[in-house]
Amino acid sequence: MNGNDSPTMQEVATHFYEEAAELMKIDQGVRDQLYVPQRILDVHFPVKMDDGSVKMFSGFRVHHNTVRGPAKGGLRYYPNLTLEQASGLAMLMTWKTAVVNLPFGGAKGGVLCDPKTLSKGELERLTRRFTTEIILLIGPERDIPAPDLGTDEQVMAWIMDTYSMVKGYSVPAVVTGKPPVIGGSAGRRRAPGRGVVFVLREFADRIGLDLRGARVVVHGFGKVGVTAAYMLEHVLGSTVIAVCDRSGAIYNPNGFDIRDLYNYKEETGTVVGYPHGEPISHADMLALECDVLVPASVENIITADNVETIRARVIVEAANAPITPAADAILREKGVHVIPDILANSGGVIVSYFEWVQDLQSFFWTDEQVTQQLRKILVRAFDQVYTLAQEHNVPLRVAAYMLALSRVATAYKLRGFYP
Ligand code: GLU
Repeated sequence: MNGNDSPTMQEVATHFYEEAAELMKIDQGVRDQLYVPQRILDVHFPVKMDDGSVKMFSGFRVHHNTVRGPAKGGLRYYPNLTLEQASGLAMLMTWKTAVVNLPFGGAKGGVLCDPKTLSKGELERLTRRFTTEIILLIGPERDIPAPDLGTDEQVMAWIMDTYSMVKGYSVPAVVTGKPPVIGGSAGRRRAPGRGVVFVLREFADRIGLDLRGARVVVHGFGKVGVTAAYMLEHVLGSTVIAVCDRSGAIYNPNGFDIRDLYNYKEETGTVVGYPHGEPISHADMLALECDVLVPASVENIITADNVETIRARVIVEAANAPITPAADAILREKGVHVIPDILANSGGVIVSYFEWVQDLQSFFWTDEQVTQQLRKILVRAFDQVYTLAQEHNVPLRVAAYMLALSRVATAYKLRGFYP
């Protein structure tokens, strides 16, 4: 799908950061410090495979910054993961936790592997060994991993168990996104998708866009895309006219029944071949005229190579960095509204924060309480970003970075520099 415009995650993260830092005249010392990760752990470790052979795997854990609190961010099990990608994503986490004002820094990590090709036993052994390798960085007060691409509740449960076995007692707060029976939070799994919709709703109100009947295109039908599509269709009455996964895209101008489509995907493993829609190419799907486009898959989906075809009024970045800086500049010229990733998809880490708090207190909230608090944080953050964007006459992304950066820079100013 990508032509020439395929920046690295690090390039994307630093591009938007520099833009905001320049506008805000951030002190050069602070600026230089935030440009690079605080620390990186690069690990290589053996895993015994089911056939008796031993295979080496590589992984990373990157702390971008911890001035506002413990490092926080997901773990990716992804064949093409690079240190560069993990570093860029860790930086995005610093801005994400800051823009919604959670007391965390930013981290990311993962293992180069394709979890689909591993048996459950292999995945468990890989996870336990990786946890042991990064154990010197993680802990409830220093770094709290969470799910990301290729990892899930089960992987988080193994991390929690491995860490707890080493400590000699249960430490649920070492990781978030766990199954609720062992200290996970109600509503964590649906939180990123729900958050996307809450933020979109706030924005739609501001620009007078009626989401009832609005035509929506959802790129990616994983956990985030499914929840966002379901809420838009089922709760807000929008018409989801196209969705896709890695294997292909489908289109139905009258809208999909997302629950039925989800069941179809659960059975067959893909949305392709769904009887109540027609096949369409990924490129044609992105070019559909629509009110809202929700990129909810991976990075670099909207690039300089396809941005001219985009006919959406609003784009909500449910994935991390789905729009390249070059494409973002063109969207600004075209007047397409973009709700940036660090705000739009922060629902996941917000409920991770709730999970960590609940684990530390051993006191658990209901789904209603989680949803209410999630909405409260997102509405407040959106409001602050929107107001800043109006005041400075800048796009929402720039305003979100400005708000995040001001919080991080203020923390530095108050804490001072050690020694
Ligand atoms: N991986 C998610 C993200 O990119 C969640 C991180 C977390 O909950 O710590 O925001």
